[in-house]
Amino acid sequence: MIYNIAIDGPAGAGKSTIAKKVARELSCVYVDTGAMYRAMALYLLRRNVDRENPEEIGEVCQGAEISIEYKNGEQIVLLNGENVNPFLRREEVGNMASVSSANPKVREKLLDLQRKLAASMSVVMDGRDIGTTILPNAEVKIYLTASSLTRAERRYLELQEKGLSCDLEEIRKDIEERDSRDMNREISPLRQAEDAVLVDSSEMTIEEVVKCILQIFHEKVILSDEVGKNEG
Ligand code: C5P
Repeated sequence: MIYNIAIDGPAGAGKSTIAKKVARELSCVYVDTGAMYRAMALYLLRRNVDRENPEEIGEVCQGAEISIEYKNGEQIVLLNGENVNPFLRREEVGNMASVSSANPKVREKLLDLQRKLAASMSVVMDGRDIGTTILPNAEVKIYLTASSLTRAERRYLELQEKGLSCDLEEIRKDIEERDSRDMNREISPLRQAEDAVLVDSSEMTIEEVVKCILQIFHEKVILSDEVGKNEG
């Protein structure tokens, strides 16, 4: 049986950490759609595209072929055949992704790839529009969020651990700007799907969030499958 778990939410809510762990627990594949938007952004940056010019973005993005491979359980993003994973987490790439992902041509190019992956195997897919647009029939939909301060603090600690100097207020401002762009864009804005379960991780540990999602999965997929079998 193939099932899909969609996890959407704002930047820094812990989606990828949680989604990876849930996927491992369920022995299914974790699909990071943000990485696909980041690969597209990297392509646009390399081509020196003007981020204020949507027509140019729409035109240039046509030259990017993005695909996915899995090696030892890790998602590798290929941009025109090149493994671009080492470049994707850079701040400039994330910022460009947040701008270019609002472009309908960019979204159109990635939609098919995401749907095909989910149709071919059980996945935990995280992003912004998975429950609302990409996989409207996903068996489990989670909207994972946390206050902007909590999210900024987590990012701050992460950067400090890497030995990078940073400013909490600046990070918070950046996160709020990104939220506002993602929530207010015309196409596929970030919002909670009607049938998604809201999980606010502000006061929860990673393990508590994982447990909570596994429980929702159990109720929605395992138990309802058993009920279906008993009724049939
Ligand atoms: O999740 P991550 O920070 O890697 O995503 C980078 C950017 O890609 C986000 O700021 C968002 O604008 C965009 N994105 C999106 N739809 C998705 C995943 C990411 O618009 N499904």
